[in-house]
Order: sequence, then C-alpha cells, then structure tokens
Amino acid sequence: LSAEAQRVIDEIEEKDVDFLRLQFTDILGTVKNVAVPATQAEKAFTDGIYFDGSSIEGFVRIQESDMRLKPDPETFAVLPWRDGRSARLICDVINTSTGEPFEGDPRRVLKNVLERAEDMGYEVNVAPEPEFFLFEEDEEGRATTKTSDAGGYFDLAPKDLASDVRRDIIYGLEQMGFEIEASHHEVAEGQHEINFEYDDALSTADNVATFRTVVRAIAAQHDLHATFMPKPIPKINGSGMHTHMSLFEDGENAFHDPDDEFDLSETAHSFLAGILEHAPAITAVADPTVNSYKRLVPGYEAPVYIAWSDRNRSALIRKPAARVPAASRIEARFPDPSCNPYLAFAALLSAGLDGIEKGLDCPDPVRENIYEFDEQKRQEYGIETLPENLGEAVDALEEDEVIADALGEHVFEKFVEAKSQEYDEFRVDVSQWELDRYLETY
Ligand code: GLU
Ligand code: MG
Ligand code: MG
Repeated sequence: LSAEAQRVIDEIEEKDVDFLRLQFTDILGTVKNVAVPATQAEKAFTDGIYFDGSSIEGFVRIQESDMRLKPDPETFAVLPWRDGRSARLICDVINTSTGEPFEGDPRRVLKNVLERAEDMGYEVNVAPEPEFFLFEEDEEGRATTKTSDAGGYFDLAPKDLASDVRRDIIYGLEQMGFEIEASHHEVAEGQHEINFEYDDALSTADNVATFRTVVRAIAAQHDLHATFMPKPIPKINGSGMHTHMSLFEDGENAFHDPDDEFDLSETAHSFLAGILEHAPAITAVADPTVNSYKRLVPGYEAPVYIAWSDRNRSALIRKPAARVPAASRIEARFPDPSCNPYLAFAALLSAGLDGIEKGLDCPDPVRENIYEFDEQKRQEYGIETLPENLGEAVDALEEDEVIADALGEHVFEKFVEAKSQEYDEFRVDVSQWELDRYLETY
C-alpha cells in the first residue's frame, strides 16, 4: 500500500466514513459511481474494484466488459451532503484483460495529453468558470425553467434570493477541498457563477466533475434544480465554461513576456494560434450538445467567430489582464459546462501544443465588437465562423487529425458515433417553434 493510500485509510477510520463512492466519467462526461463499504478500501487500493463496463456509455463492447477501477488516493474527499458518512475517490479505469489503463477512460485521454506536454517541458494550469442556472422545481420535483429571482449581474440581496443557496454550495465545495475565489450572480435571471482556484489540468478536470455534482446536490436540498445546460432560455445569456490556461516551464510562467505588447510570450502566441486553427474540431468536444449551439450566437457574450482579443468578449479567446507574471494566461470562451472536462481540456491543450510544435503564427487581435461585423468585414479580417450546429462540429472533428489523435481511436469513434446519433435525432424532430410558426399558417 502506498503512503498516500495508507493516509486515506487512516482518514476513513478517523472520520468514521461508512461508504466509498468510486467515481469515473463516461465519454459524455456523466459521473458514474460504484459504492463500496469503507471496509473495502484496502482492497480497492491494492486490487481495484471490478465492474461491468458494458453498460457504461461508450466504454466497451459487451464481450469485453470487465473493467477495474483504480482509485486515485489524492482525490479522497468526504461528501458533505451525506452526513459525512460517505466519501468519494476518483478512479482510473483499467482494462482487466491487458492490465493497462483503459483507452476509453476520459481521464486517461487527458493524462496522455499532459504526458505529451511534460515531454515538451511544460506543466499545465487550468482554471474554469462554470456558469449555471438555478430553477424552481414543480410539485412533482421535476425541473422547470422558472427562476425565483430577478437579480442581474453582480446584484446584491434582497434581489439575489439565491444567494443563500449559493452560500451553501460554496460551504459544500469548501468542505470538499475547493478554494473558492469568487462567486456572483451572472447576467441572466437565475444564473450564477462560482470560480475556483486554478490547478494542474487533471485536478481541474476532476474538480469540474465534482463541482457539477455538488452544485446539483446542494441546490436539490433547497428544492431547486441546478442546470449546466448551455442555453435553457432563449434570448438571454447562456451558460459558458470559460477555460483559462497557462503553461509553466521550470516553475516559471512560459506564457509571460513583459516585452510583448500583450504580455504574451512566443510560446503563448503559438499556443493560441493552435487553438484558433483547431477551433471547429475542439468545438465538437467543448460544446458537445445540440443545445450548445443555441448559446454560440451573436449578442450574448458567447463567441461565434474564430478570433482572439485582448479586450472584448465577443472573441473566441481573450487575453485577460494579469497583475503578476504568474497570472499571464489565455481564456478560451467557447467551452460550455455540458462538456466532458477531461476531453475538452485534452482537445484544447493538444491544439495549443500542436501550435507550439509547429511554431504557428498568431494573427493580430481583433479589438472591435465582432458581433457587429458584416460578412465583408469578416472576410477582410480573415475571420472564420464556429460550426453552427453539432452536425457541422462533428464533421470538423472527423477532419481534424490532431484532435482525433488526442482523443485516441476508441474515444474518437465512440464520441463521433454518439454525437452523430444525437444530432440525427434532433434533425428529424419537429419543434414547438415550428408548430407555432407553421401549423396554422400553411
Ligand atoms: N454567459 C456568457 C457565456 O455564455 C459569459 C458571460 C461572462 O463573460 O462571464 O459565455
Ligand atoms: Mg461569467
Ligand atoms: Mg470569463
């Protein structure tokens, strides 16, 4: 037993934890878990816990369904909403027939990209800004799209009725080890954002998965439904998950250059150029639902055009102001919180690393509001548009070898299959909008 694992076992006894939830995510980013009595902890760390992977989205074919979960002791955390008697451990998934890490495990996919970064001499820091809505439940406890609050951006109580809920969510997150930087009411009614401290990319992806679980569980205690659906209500802001990224080399921020007009090094410029280059394919992974594309429309602070800016929020990538060199970073504004964070970070980072490897040139920033550009002006500036729907995004992914390679064959195939099917289902459906518009007119 490793020292780390032993420490966890001691803590389990000390805190009188009864159950362990062994967690992992499927390809779509849904958190799955297998609960075992805490008495199994030692066995979980030494042998792992076996489970049937055939029922998990995109994991394996039926005939090769035995998988093993290997808990990562660094991820031990007591769940605050179970009277402190349950704890979770995030796991790597092992293929029992080979004994190797399972290639369909999204956490593995991100680890592979991080290994590549490490070979290039980089450590990767990531900080996300997940936004979400709090909605009322109906009598049956089902989610509605009604909000009980009329607050707006940074509003204070008494308008911000949900601030109590947000406070409890923050307590819950802090109990699980999160360092909360800030939280505020977002632009739209019922919309919130809680920012947590940056960390290495893998921990941050784990944190995003945990964050979504905690937010939903604690909102439910207040009879509210928290949703990370990107655009639950038309014609107001949707929910994004802006993703801040920087690379460190020998303990120094490799994105920082005091002599550059934008405070960005050559490395940062190439990284940024890599993301711009691969943006359409990344979008399939970072904005993976049909609904994601209802958010990526002009006018709601979400990006539509492939450009970067050191100023405005209509761009795909923004360079936020940094007060200290260590904080130099870029902010990708296109991901949304319905993504699988492991895969989304893997796609973003592999694109950036590709930009560095190829020494891609970065275009000039666009400082005007790109929403207001017409077709001609966009052409003049050479600005391309993001995919308009999930179908186009999946097409772009299929044509992008760099992003496909980063996902690995298994995940790439399963992801494309699942998303093509999702888009086809949407395409043949007839929406309420169509009925309202056409049923009586024709
Ligand atoms: N809600 C906006 C989005 O969809 C972002 C607002 C902000 O800048 O925080 O990305
Ligand atoms: Mg925000
Ligand atoms: Mg932001």
